[in-house]
Amino acid sequence: MLGEDFREKSYWLSTRPYNPSPPLRGTREVDVAIVGGGFTGLSAAYFISKSAPALKVALLESQVIGYGASGRNGGFSMTLFGLTLSLTARRFGRQAAREAHCYMEKAVDTLRDLVQAEGLECDYEHPGFLRVATSEKYKKRILGELELARSLGIDGIEWLDRQELLDEVRSPLYLGAWWEPRCGLLNPAKLAWAWKSVLERLKVHVFEQSPVVGIRRTKKEILLTTPWGEVRTQRVVLATNAYSHLVPAPGLRRKQVPVWTHIVLTEPLQDEHFEKIGWRRRQGIEDARNLVHYYRLTADNRLLMGGRDVTLSYGTDMDRDRNEKTFIELEKEVSNLKDQLETRKLVDRAKGILMDSQGLTEAAAFRRIQKMSMNTRKSMKEIAQAIILTHEANE
Ligand SMILES: Cc1cc2nc3c(=O)[nH]c(=O)nc-3n(C[C@H](O)[C@H](O)[C@H](O)COP(=O)(O)OP(=O)(O)OC[C@H]3O[C@@H](n4cnc5c(N)ncnc54)[C@H](O)[C@@H]3O)c2cc1C
Repeated sequence: MLGEDFREKSYWLSTRPYNPSPPLRGTREVDVAIVGGGFTGLSAAYFISKSAPALKVALLESQVIGYGASGRNGGFSMTLFGLTLSLTARRFGRQAAREAHCYMEKAVDTLRDLVQAEGLECDYEHPGFLRVATSEKYKKRILGELELARSLGIDGIEWLDRQELLDEVRSPLYLGAWWEPRCGLLNPAKLAWAWKSVLERLKVHVFEQSPVVGIRRTKKEILLTTPWGEVRTQRVVLATNAYSHLVPAPGLRRKQVPVWTHIVLTEPLQDEHFEKIGWRRRQGIEDARNLVHYYRLTADNRLLMGGRDVTLSYGTDMDRDRNEKTFIELEKEVSNLKDQLETRKLVDRAKGILMDSQGLTEAAAFRRIQKMSMNTRKSMKEIAQAIILTHEANE
């Protein structure tokens, strides 16, 4: 039986008490069986049950709801589709790029509305998004993206010049920013667990600690087996993301490899820090590098930073979520924010945060959050829109 070990997988998974549902025991017959309790599986269960309440739906999760990438991500609900707007346009054409952006806008709105309508407690806030230019090269890049957006008829995004940006977040390195009010930030583990409560209200049977170890199709039905039970069903939704190569279904094994990407967090920032740096409106922030950094505040004012390089893994070992090299690099990057976000000298080692003459945080005490992505052959930025895509695509 699973203990509390899952909480070690991510800061988010430790932010509220959680009691997993019991595993599947015995035989169940359902109309639809969903394998995987991340956002894809949860939202599939939700929209299936909403649109066809008479259907019997079961969701099987091998560990706990939110155990995979859904409980370990940055929590940005944003419009970015693909790597950049210009790359999407180059690859798929201008019209498709516009449609993709509009779809993402709808997806952000859908999630925000669902959070409200279903009362999903996930520390949701809607502070908007800044893509900051930290050099002339990146300024040019962002302005080019903005010009393209305008030429495609996409509105609601503005350029903030240096002074306007300083009024929001005080960094001597920021030369300006893409400002997009349509962006939400949330606690992803809380969102996943809130979804489970909604599903239970809708009479979806949720079984945790129930890995599907066998899938067999007969003439009459599909049979899913778990260590202590089985499900007989007519339809299966495989929502196993980066674990899909391990799922016992023909043809999946070689279709995917897991991509690993990481996040670090500081101890909570204090009022005096915000007096120096501003950031009172708590926007989600990303830079324009190829190996992007993104950062945000959590509900308890920790600075979360993710990004940099991603790694691939082969074989069956899915315990690669500790990557010292990337953690160290990310920790350095947070320290480097001291050069970006201007404050007076302040050293607060006791609380595990160092501030100095130009610093936001030189985080002496990082909480290391290992992130295991399930997004095979996807880039970091493609991964990053997935919270809302999983919700919107299943609608
Ligand atoms: C570090 C990081 C940062 C990210 N940041 C963002 C962000 O800011 N915004 C954004 O939109 N997206 C972000 N993403 C991407 C996003 O988290 C994922 O794309 C999304 O959560 C995928 O959801 P999912 O349900 O498809 O997969 P998962 O959440 O991975 O769910 C798959 C589930 O299937 C279960 N499972 C696997 N095999 C079996 C089996 N045999 N039987 C039963 N259950 C099984 C797993 O235990 C797991 O719970 C980030 C990802 C990472 C890794």
